[in-house]
Amino acid sequence: MLLANLPSTALAEPRQLRFVTGKRKKSWNKNCLAVGLSSGFMEPLESTSIHLIQSTIMRFLSLFPRRDNFDIEMNRFNNDVDREFRTVRDFLILHYKATQRDDSELWNYCRNMEIPDSLQEKLDLYQSGSWLERDKQELFGVDSWLAVLNGQHVRAESYSPLVDSLPKDKLESILRETREVIAQCATAMPSHEDFIRKHCADPTLHQ
Ligand SMILES: Cc1cc2nc3c(=O)[nH]c(=O)nc-3n(C[C@H](O)[C@H](O)[C@H](O)COP(=O)(O)OP(=O)(O)OC[C@H]3O[C@@H](n4cnc5c(N)ncnc54)[C@H](O)[C@@H]3O)c2cc1C
Repeated sequence: MLLANLPSTALAEPRQLRFVTGKRKKSWNKNCLAVGLSSGFMEPLESTSIHLIQSTIMRFLSLFPRRDNFDIEMNRFNNDVDREFRTVRDFLILHYKATQRDDSELWNYCRNMEIPDSLQEKLDLYQSGSWLERDKQELFGVDSWLAVLNGQHVRAESYSPLVDSLPKDKLESILRETREVIAQCATAMPSHEDFIRKHCADPTLHQ
């Protein structure tokens, strides 16, 4: 499929990378700390590995033990790592679950697959009243969740009642300003094609 859609002949043979997804039950066990791929891997879609390396190091530093018995710090660390992996996992699964594609076995499977309770709860809350909560240790913010939900046509059935506490003209001006800022940013940015042509064009394609 990849080779069939290239605009020119391939520069090299494609290299398939295979990986097993998952994480260690304990990233920190006794005097051993697993960081990076040694602690786990989910998948490359949202490129989270380097962030997880960094957050593991920061978390370890903030819980760096002083005493010989450091079970309390270790347990807290492992629980927090679990939570962070879980939120990333849920965000990744959403990309697949929310698909509307029905043109292949893969996408049909994804659309109908079981999802973790934590993700189902997040989806239910969003669809019921636009609620999007962010765990304070979570990598992906509300904007990221909204982009994937809206981008894949998962719509909320209602909006937050808090919105009704704002006067209508105030609400309209906030929305207008948001729209203007987005439009100005989009206008100021080069198109994807222009950017590639200027910064990283493949000379063999434009002769
Ligand atoms: C093509 C590609 C693109 C990527 N893009 C992104 C991205 O955009 N964003 C992102 O966050 N992540 C990205 N990743 C993932 C990220 O780069 C890796 O998850 C990360 O570098 C892993 O770091 P690590 O230190 O855990 O493992 P590695 O970087 O694999 O380091 C492990 C080291 O251990 C050495 N080693 C292995 N076995 C032994 C042994 N028995 N004895 C001694 N040494 C050993 C290896 O030689 C290696 O130097 C990408 C990965 C790939 C392959």
